[in-house]
Amino acid sequence: MTGATQKRDLRTGRSLWADSPGLGVPARPLKAAVAVDVAIVGAGISGAFMAQELARDHSVVVLDRRPPLMGSTIASTALLQWEIDLPLTELSRQIGPAKAKRAYQRSRKAVDDLKRIVAGERIVCGLHDKATLYLAGDAYGWRALEAEAEARAAIGLESEFLKAADLRERFDIDRTGAILSQGSAGADPARLAAGLLRRAAADGASIHSPVEVLEAVSDPDGVTLLTDAGHAVRARTVVFCCGYEFPKGVPTPGAEVISTWALASTPRPRSPGWLKDTLVWEASDPYLYFRMSRDGRLIVGGEDEQSPDAHADPAKLKRKCETIARKLKRLLPGEDFEIDYNWAGAFGESATGLPSIAPVPDMDHAWAVMGFGGNGITYSVIASQIVSAAIRGRSDPDADLYRP
Ligand SMILES: Cc1cc2nc3c(=O)[nH]c(=O)nc-3n(C[C@H](O)[C@H](O)[C@H](O)COP(=O)(O)OP(=O)(O)OC[C@H]3O[C@@H](n4cnc5c(N)ncnc54)[C@H](O)[C@@H]3O)c2cc1C
Repeated sequence: MTGATQKRDLRTGRSLWADSPGLGVPARPLKAAVAVDVAIVGAGISGAFMAQELARDHSVVVLDRRPPLMGSTIASTALLQWEIDLPLTELSRQIGPAKAKRAYQRSRKAVDDLKRIVAGERIVCGLHDKATLYLAGDAYGWRALEAEAEARAAIGLESEFLKAADLRERFDIDRTGAILSQGSAGADPARLAAGLLRRAAADGASIHSPVEVLEAVSDPDGVTLLTDAGHAVRARTVVFCCGYEFPKGVPTPGAEVISTWALASTPRPRSPGWLKDTLVWEASDPYLYFRMSRDGRLIVGGEDEQSPDAHADPAKLKRKCETIARKLKRLLPGEDFEIDYNWAGAFGESATGLPSIAPVPDMDHAWAVMGFGGNGITYSVIASQIVSAAIRGRSDPDADLYRP
């Protein structure tokens, strides 16, 4: 392995967060039929934000066929960014400048809202503020990034273009340019989701696992979920927060499921100050991205592949993680690191980089939340706001942005 070394007892195929403390969630099997205001299918980060928001004033049940958190949430590298996978300039071309502006501003607000919820609910999940460095790459070069920084600044977002010389001097990175933005964050996604689910449970939500939802049948008054536990769940509204594993009959328009890979180093005693405080990603396809955890581990990901199941291939895991390590070493030649964990997961993509948060077509009282792209966790916050507003009979001014 070039530059990086591999820890002798490398935890291969295991996410760093699987070994986090504080992942306990009060889940139990479903032993009887229940009737509630809201049934949430999926106990990942999307279901967790949804449950935390709705359990305050509704009866809520959360169902998962796995133990809570064990879908893509446990695999997430949890860069909590407001920058969308598609630059503002490009998104403006695709959906028009007014909508693109709202999409960026809403993402920016969602990261602030996430921080507010974590602080308000006192969830211990290693959340800390980070700047973001977006490096010129093979998809967008320095001229495109300079125009992008201007476009963002024009709508009030904190982005500054750095020329190559500035980038080298401040970050010791050799690229033709970059955008430095403020207002993002990093966290442990599993502890975050577990903390939210515990808060929802404290407000009365019941969490049931393992329970698979086999079928959903809607009628004018609500939805009946048929489960493999043999007991039905009756709800006025159902929200599918199923990550990338949608039940049969729930369409996923415009979405493509792909595979992605990640690794984490051992904790490093010394690192440049900027690395502790900055998320880094590239304007390349596929792009490399990395951040540091609070205990000094480098968390690095990328090498996305257009396949829904390549992430399950162990030989590919080894090869992809070698490539990620090699690319990181090329970018940060002064940093040595030892690889401790590597893992892979499914990931969703949409053409615009925006998620789908919408009523399920041809099914009354049912919503589906698909937090696509590199901003999945930020979008989980937005999804909980849009769906909870609709359930409370209010409208959200940005709901139209997320209708496929
Ligand atoms: C390697 C990797 C890195 C990532 N990095 C980032 C990042 O840096 N920043 C970011 O914001 N996002 C990132 N993401 C994306 C982010 O992790 C996801 O958007 C997010 O975890 C999705 O959460 P979720 O709750 O919607 O889905 P999940 O966590 O997958 O939860 C869905 C749950 O639904 C359950 N389920 C599905 N079908 C049924 C059924 N029929 N009955 C019962 N239960 C069911 C599943 O068991 C699962 O537990 C990354 C993803 C991966 C894989």
